[in-house]
Amino acid sequence: MKMSEMNRRKFMLVATQVAGVAIFSRSILKGLFSSAEAAEPLKTVTDLKMLDPKDTLASAVKYVEDYKKSQTSKGNHCVSCQFYAKKEKRAGKEVGTCTIFQGKLVYGNAFCNSYSKKA
Ligand code: SF4
Repeated sequence: MKMSEMNRRKFMLVATQVAGVAIFSRSILKGLFSSAEAAEPLKTVTDLKMLDPKDTLASAVKYVEDYKKSQTSKGNHCVSCQFYAKKEKRAGKEVGTCTIFQGKLVYGNAFCNSYSKKA
């Protein structure tokens, strides 16, 4: 076997091994991160929509967007509820998140029967 043929064979062998390692590494990395890519990105407050009072859970706890329209609020509303966290204003009204209604916003002046006064 000639020297140049040996060098070419050796080169091809090394090149094949390098390519194999690169493909293998890429597939491992892709596998490791594919679950993270598939996960839905976290929503920001601006992505959140207002809770629909007709939502099944909202109806069940008699959620109203204005506590004055509730016969059981006794003047209490989300702002003073332990489940509420103020986030921003929308159309001049304070809105925030509620532990009960994950992924939605409620009005600061809203009320529902799950109300629990902040300590
Ligand atoms: S649990 Fe509290 S913060 Fe949530 S909607 Fe009812 S009153 Fe408002």
